[in-house]
Amino acid sequence: MSQLMNRQEILRALPSVDQLLRLPALEEAIGRSGRDQVRDRLREVLADLRRSWLEQGTLPGPPEVIREEVLVRLHHRLGVQTRRRTQRVINATGVVLHTNLGRAPLAPVAIEAIREVASGYCNLEYDLASGKRGKRGTGLEAMLGDLLSAPAAAVVNNCAAAVLLTLNALAEGGEVIISRGELVEIGGSFRIPDVIAKSGARLREVGTTNRTRLSDYEAAITPETKLILRVHPSNYRIVGFTRKPELSELAALARAHQIPLFDDLGSGSLVDLRPIGIPEEPTAAESLAAGVSVVAFSGDKLLGGPQCGIIVGEASHLQRIKSNPLMRALRVDKLTYAALEATVASYLRGTAREEIPALAALHATRGETAERVTRFLDRTAANILPLRLEAVDGSSVVGGGSAPEVQLPSVLVRVAHPTLSAAELETWLRQQTPPIIGRIEGDHLLLDLRTVHPEEEPLLADRLLALSAWSGPETANDTRQTRTADHPATSSVH
Ligand SMILES: *Cc1c(COP(=O)(O)O)cnc(C)c1O
Repeated sequence: MSQLMNRQEILRALPSVDQLLRLPALEEAIGRSGRDQVRDRLREVLADLRRSWLEQGTLPGPPEVIREEVLVRLHHRLGVQTRRRTQRVINATGVVLHTNLGRAPLAPVAIEAIREVASGYCNLEYDLASGKRGKRGTGLEAMLGDLLSAPAAAVVNNCAAAVLLTLNALAEGGEVIISRGELVEIGGSFRIPDVIAKSGARLREVGTTNRTRLSDYEAAITPETKLILRVHPSNYRIVGFTRKPELSELAALARAHQIPLFDDLGSGSLVDLRPIGIPEEPTAAESLAAGVSVVAFSGDKLLGGPQCGIIVGEASHLQRIKSNPLMRALRVDKLTYAALEATVASYLRGTAREEIPALAALHATRGETAERVTRFLDRTAANILPLRLEAVDGSSVVGGGSAPEVQLPSVLVRVAHPTLSAAELETWLRQQTPPIIGRIEGDHLLLDLRTVHPEEEPLLADRLLALSAWSGPETANDTRQTRTADHPATSSVH
């Protein structure tokens, strides 16, 4: 059908929306996205095709070919519309461990390890030396032992699972002593009193919200006591007239009464973060060195690895934890082992600060963020009117419940427009592919490059250029706008 056709012929050849909606091939899409969505997207697709076929003066082929073309485009569009799917976003918020944005991005070595293990079989539960069944995680547990001078280790699905499992394995049916100042909610409804109850242990709270003494713990110890629990208060701080015993004092008390002391560190950094102004994140090794029996922390907070919970400590306690029936329900898969092993190997090599994105982002100095912003603006700002991009002083935060009071000094990109508001600019960027998440402070939209991967910069620049051509929200729903969002000019980052 390559000969030129007249307008009427082309318009007649286009199927109607109603005909298309009755196709069995669309039942599934209608079931998933809803009839209204599918109808609206069909209208857009038909309008696009009509325009381009009229311009060319030809049709692509017989009715089946036309129908196929419509369906392919429809499915693409529905896919793009499904913003709820898990997808990459550009985090320009400056929150390094952003729980809503998936916390720590993985190191390239961890991604490579996942790729390798996921694309074939692996020795997850197979001992290559003997050719017999092996235990999962033994290599990783040995690495964690080396790194933290810990006699034994276990890995579960997240730190919440680590806390639940440890409490159940070591304290079920007995009492758990905890300071009133540590009965916190971590977020996502993870509340320490509820978790203790779910573990089958009974809560025995001591002291007051702001002050708890060693003698308060001591007075609460009875034959019913199975465990003393310390919880890092995470994103909550008690300041001023406060007091709590040193971890080493608590450890000595626990040892004297032969009761395990369990420290839920939450973030649990593996490196000392005091040099970059993060004072209150004791490392897991420090906690163990203070005499704590069992320590739990997250894999995807300050450690910068995959989502998981790491439990380290005395071998006898870890044995009870690993043989607990909950262990099977809370264990991690081969991908997590692969990623965590590669991440821990990076610490063992001494290259973590360069290789692990979250650590690199935390360690970037104000000067380094300033240089990055200058280079970014040099490449971008010149041709971007009426958008105005400016370097401004500000700060980034750690996130992930860590060091809520710490501000990391940064230079940020401020985006301004003569007529569009910060909220309008923010919304537009959030609806791109990939979505760009900035932050609004006062009347300004700020983009923080500290959390933007260098490879994402061209994509960010490309979207800012597109934003400069945008005329405002009244055109936000027309097909021209949708098309811009569907086909970013640069897609090299995927
Ligand atoms: C974050 C946190 C948890 C939960 O960790 P997840 O890995 O998110 O399950 C538990 N305890 C503390 C103190 C935390 O900060």
